[in-house]
Amino acid sequence: MTPPRALVTGGAGFLGSHLCDALLAEGYSVIVVDNLLTGRASNLHHLRNDPRFEFRQLDINLPFDCGKVDYVFHFACPASPVDYMKHGIETLKVGSLGTLHALEVARKYGARYLISSTSECYGDPLENPQKETYWGNVNPIGPRSVYDEAKRFSEALTMAYHRYHRVDTRIVRIFNTYGPRMQLNDGRVVPNFMKQALRGEDLTVYGDGSQTRSFCYVSDEVDGFIRLSKSTEHLPVNIGNPTEFTILECAKRVLAVTGSKSAIRYQPLPQDDPKQRCPDITKARTLLGWEPKIDLETGLRMSLEYFRQASSELA
Ligand code: UDP
Repeated sequence: MTPPRALVTGGAGFLGSHLCDALLAEGYSVIVVDNLLTGRASNLHHLRNDPRFEFRQLDINLPFDCGKVDYVFHFACPASPVDYMKHGIETLKVGSLGTLHALEVARKYGARYLISSTSECYGDPLENPQKETYWGNVNPIGPRSVYDEAKRFSEALTMAYHRYHRVDTRIVRIFNTYGPRMQLNDGRVVPNFMKQALRGEDLTVYGDGSQTRSFCYVSDEVDGFIRLSKSTEHLPVNIGNPTEFTILECAKRVLAVTGSKSAIRYQPLPQDDPKQRCPDITKARTLLGWEPKIDLETGLRMSLEYFRQASSELA
């Protein structure tokens, strides 16, 4: 019997590549399309000899068709603040045109569809923790708007394809995720702190470090994607770890796990940096029986070898 075929846009990215591993383990054959703007072919290197795996370098901002697929996982998008601010127009394009083209593929082949959205839809939230029913507090013209509004538009377009064209869609709102294969220089807090700690550099805490984030280890996050992909829920579902840390606490955990003697250096807080972020995961718990298993310290330890290796490869 031919295995079901999954298309993963952005599959060369950190999360996309872990999703590919999980889909292959679930029995799918997988085709990745990625323009490698921020993704890396090396994230998929271990799959190159798998006959059920295929990679095509192409830009989904143009219409594309890789043949019949049973499932579309739309993950293409720069995802770190440094990346999406550097590639602002591309981010808006992939959120709009790229999402349109991915939805068209799902519509054409009657494929199921899951899009990676983000806790950034909640902006700088006035509610904590954030439930899926919260509409958010987003600055539509600030520096982060290229990402936030692209993702909010992606969600709107996905719901429209569901309502008007009956595409079988799902939306996952991802909260800060970390683990092996994160790019060391993508500017996100975990790779930045790990790199700095391992190289004996100061850890750069932005602002006073009192802003909060909730960090989910990648295997927990991907388990949530797979469970959601099998469910029939069309409205957004938060997938993230509900244990909230201040950024200063996060820096201290990194120092403890790496055994580093690095100092902490305070730097200005970027504009519109959300003050808090924590998912309410009642819906994922109830609907998917999902809950993260790996706490921050354990996940950092599980990532240590990867970050050590990646840091040693830096010039
Ligand atoms: N941050 C920090 N130092 C760094 C990188 C990030 O203090 O070297 C802070 C950043 O200001 C934010 C939080 O860590 O408050 C998470 O930032 P990240 O870029 O990982 O993602 P975000 O959650 O803002 O999308």
